[in-house]
Amino acid sequence: MQQHPARTSPQHAAPRRATFRTASTHATRAALAVGATVVALPLAGHPVRIPFTAPGHVVAVSAGTVAGALAPALPRRTRPIPERLSGPAVTNAPTPVALTPRERLALGASGTYIGEILRVRDSAVVRWPERVDRPLTVWVANAAGLADWRPAYLARVADAFGAWTRTGVPVRFRFVQDSSAAEVHVAWTDRFREPYSGRTVWSRDEHWWLTDANITLALHHNDGSPLDEDQVRAIALHEIGHLLGLDHTTDSTSVMAARVRVRELSAADQSTARLVYALPAGHL
Ligand SMILES: [Zn+2]
Repeated sequence: MQQHPARTSPQHAAPRRATFRTASTHATRAALAVGATVVALPLAGHPVRIPFTAPGHVVAVSAGTVAGALAPALPRRTRPIPERLSGPAVTNAPTPVALTPRERLALGASGTYIGEILRVRDSAVVRWPERVDRPLTVWVANAAGLADWRPAYLARVADAFGAWTRTGVPVRFRFVQDSSAAEVHVAWTDRFREPYSGRTVWSRDEHWWLTDANITLALHHNDGSPLDEDQVRAIALHEIGHLLGLDHTTDSTSVMAARVRVRELSAADQSTARLVYALPAGHL
C-alpha cells in the first residue's frame, strides 16, 4: 500500500490529495488520511484533512465550503414509513417492508453525528462489509525500541478495538502475529511532527467498501510529553473509529472529536457507528 502521509500544513491551507493505486490491478482506490490529537493540550493547529480521490476524478473538500452538501442526502419521503417503525406498536405484525437507505437515515439520525460525516464525504457512506463470521485481521506492532514504550499499550489498543465491537457494529477483529496476513496494521511512532497523536490511512474500492487500513499511534505528544495509557487507549478509540468509516464531529464529548478530550465512546459515537452500518456503502 502506498501512502501519502499527511504533511505539515498551516491552518486553512488548501486541501491536499491522497491517491492510492494498486500495483496488481487496474482498480483505482481512494485513500484518506485522518489525524487526531488527544487530551486537553493547548493545540496549535487543526489536523490536516486529506480529501477523497474518487474513482476517476478528484473531489476537493475543504472545511466550510461544503456546508450544503448534506441537503441532497436528507431523505425525501417517497412512500410512507411503516407505522410499526415510526409510530405505536401494532399487533398482527405486518409484512416486513424494506426501508430505503434514506428512510433508515431519517429514522436513525437522531442522536448521531451522521450529518457531519456525510457533509464532508459528499453524502457517501464508507464502511466495511459485514465481517462477523470472518473477522478483520489486525496486526499491532511492538514498539519496544522506542523511548517510553510500555508493553501495557498493547492491551489498551486491543481493548479499544473491543469497545467498538461492543457497540454492535457487524465487524469483529482477530489479532494476528503475521503482519503480512493482516488487513489492519497498527504501528507506533515516537511523535508526529504535526499536532497529532494518531493517524489513520484507509483505502476503499470503487463501491465505497473499505479494503484495508493502517493506524499509526504516537508515544509522545507533539510537544514531547509522553502519552499515558488512558491517552493511548483514547486515541486508539478515535483512530479505530476512522478505521470503521466514521469521521470527525464537533461534539467534544465524543471520541470522534478532532481533539479527543474524552476517554470512552459516547452514546453518539455508538449510535453513529450503528447507523453507518445500517446503511449501504456509497452515495445515499
Ligand atoms: Zn481523526
